[in-house]
Amino acid sequence: MKLSDIDKFKSQLTALKSEIEDIESISMSSTATVTLDQSSVGRLSRMDALQGQQMALESGRRRKQQLLQIQASLQRIENGEFGYCSHCGEEIAIGRLEINPAASRCVNCAE
Ligand SMILES: [Zn+2]
Repeated sequence: MKLSDIDKFKSQLTALKSEIEDIESISMSSTATVTLDQSSVGRLSRMDALQGQQMALESGRRRKQQLLQIQASLQRIENGEFGYCSHCGEEIAIGRLEINPAASRCVNCAE
């Protein structure tokens, strides 16, 4: 892979990382709001609030997983391993990385 490509993916990953961290800090404050409001709302809306909280927790889990993948990819860039499949060691198709720069496996070994 060309150095300019690696630079491109590195800035994409860095932007993605700060984007997720921003969402994370916003949603953490909104989850706190839901908890505070619960004492003053009726049963149905309390259930709505709980359901919303579950969804927030679930997407929070997904975000954390994505963040870990991004951090691992940035680490691979540092180590000069970026762009190679973590499973078979073959080069990952650049088109695949353009869709998901945090992909760590080639199309054949995809999770
Ligand atoms: Zn592979």
